[in-house]
Amino acid sequence: MKPVATKPEFKRAVNEQCKYMGLGPPWSFKMDLETRDIPDPEAYAACIAQPDYFYATLYFDPTHPGWAKEDFTITECVRHELFHAYISAYTHAAHRLCGGDKQLEAELNAREEELVTRLATMPIWEYNIV
Ligand SMILES: [Zn+2]
Repeated sequence: MKPVATKPEFKRAVNEQCKYMGLGPPWSFKMDLETRDIPDPEAYAACIAQPDYFYATLYFDPTHPGWAKEDFTITECVRHELFHAYISAYTHAAHRLCGGDKQLEAELNAREEELVTRLATMPIWEYNIV
């Protein structure tokens, strides 16, 4: 598949959305477009956050066929991944509270995906906020 966006385009989207979401310093982000590094091979994007260090790696696979199937813009995808970082202190604490219970972990992961998707696609983003 033809890449859905170039690295500079992803970088611009990340910088823009970080500004809107207040994810400036101390937060810092590494961006990785090497598809082999995405933790979930089925996913075309991911965020691995280290909230104690205000640091996250954002993974994007620009040639994943999923981009064509989903009604998700690059901006919404970037926002979705950044919201994972945004709420990561909470989700990391919640995972610790699961105490290794795989069913609770799965429910937590599903709820997190639902939450960040809803936040990333809220109607408020349609307003010009610049
Ligand atoms: Zn997600």
